[in-house]
Amino acid sequence: MKEVILIKNGELALKGLNRRTFEDMLIKNMKHRLAPVGKFKFTVAQSTIVAEAVNEDADLDRAVEIISKVFGIAAFSRAIAVSKDFQTILKNAEEYLADDLMGASTFKVEAKRSDKKFPLKSPEICREAGGYLLNKFPHLTVDVHNPDIVVNIEIRDEYAYIHGKQIKGAGGMPTGSAGRAALLISGGIDSPVAGYMMAKRGIELIAVHFASPPYTSERAEQKVHSLLRQVAKYSGRIALWVVPFTEIQEKIKDYCPEDIFTVVMRRMMMRVAQDICARERAAALITGESVGQVASQTMPAIACTDAICEIPVFRPLIGMDKDEVIEISRKIETFDISILPYEDCCTVFTPKHPKTRPTIQYVEEAEACYDFAPLLEQAAKDARFILIENK
Ligand code: ATP
Ligand code: MG
Repeated sequence: MKEVILIKNGELALKGLNRRTFEDMLIKNMKHRLAPVGKFKFTVAQSTIVAEAVNEDADLDRAVEIISKVFGIAAFSRAIAVSKDFQTILKNAEEYLADDLMGASTFKVEAKRSDKKFPLKSPEICREAGGYLLNKFPHLTVDVHNPDIVVNIEIRDEYAYIHGKQIKGAGGMPTGSAGRAALLISGGIDSPVAGYMMAKRGIELIAVHFASPPYTSERAEQKVHSLLRQVAKYSGRIALWVVPFTEIQEKIKDYCPEDIFTVVMRRMMMRVAQDICARERAAALITGESVGQVASQTMPAIACTDAICEIPVFRPLIGMDKDEVIEISRKIETFDISILPYEDCCTVFTPKHPKTRPTIQYVEEAEACYDFAPLLEQAAKDARFILIENK
């Protein structure tokens, strides 16, 4: 008896001609992510991918934990692969699912037969296996509509697979299938969630963090690493660029009116991030902004930010309430890290009375008082690289 993981790739199945490419990408991602657990072999048949450990001692519990966070998977289940002899199938179903069946009071059998040479048709498999299990577990009754447990028997080319409950996958599209984008990450609650959401749509993340030592501490940067490590459990490894931002912020403080300080700062961040994108072949920016959350996130302020951007800015949280964002941050376990109290470069220079309706003209005039371009270029060049692994 050999235990495997059966993976159903959700939306992928809809992709027609691209399907193979998407499937290959998903398999490559899973291979990479499962590497710390062991070597896995993958086979594909009829929108199901079978993952099988090559080494006997691979920890399948950990593998399942990892698979549950890989995007592009609608559902998966642990299963056993057995030879396609009907008696063997029955005996193994009884043994493999014994605990689940003992704990249930109703069940049904579902069968799929992709190997049409198998002597029994699907309804016959269901009937025979149902009768067999009723006999072995007399406390059970059959409920075809709402059973406590479904016994699945899938007859495929090489083996018959038997499994109980299906587990919901992380959904979305395989990471990398939608290209690469740069997440602007602060230490707050929103930006890690924004990164998670875009990674879910198949985007490979790089990250850009602006640090302003000595106003911001080493611990604040460590917090960003921890947040990204958590996001990387879903998105795969993330290349982080930490940009020295102190001098730029000081110049903004010296030369621009305080009421638009945050908007100017955000525009400077965008300019540096775009430089990094060009270098790293990333095609969009991602932020954790949400309309009305703070003064820099009113519609006029967002318009000012966008005016400086030459590539799309994705803001997946734009229409969400804070509670909704928090709910996701708890789910992906970034919340407890985000609420640690270390300072961010934004909070250090927050104006007392920010302008909620800045105009592009007003902002551009303010910025023209100082030649920021060389500083910004230098900051992009001086950015420190850190690879955030997903282990
Ligand atoms: P977050 O939005 O991440 O919870 P926050 O609410 O403190 O943090 P805002 O002031 O709302 O941050 O900033 C809006 C967005 O700007 C953030 O979601 C993030 O994408 C980006 N940003 C803010 N500060 C930084 C920073 N220090 N480095 C990189 N990006 C930042
Ligand atoms: Mg925010």
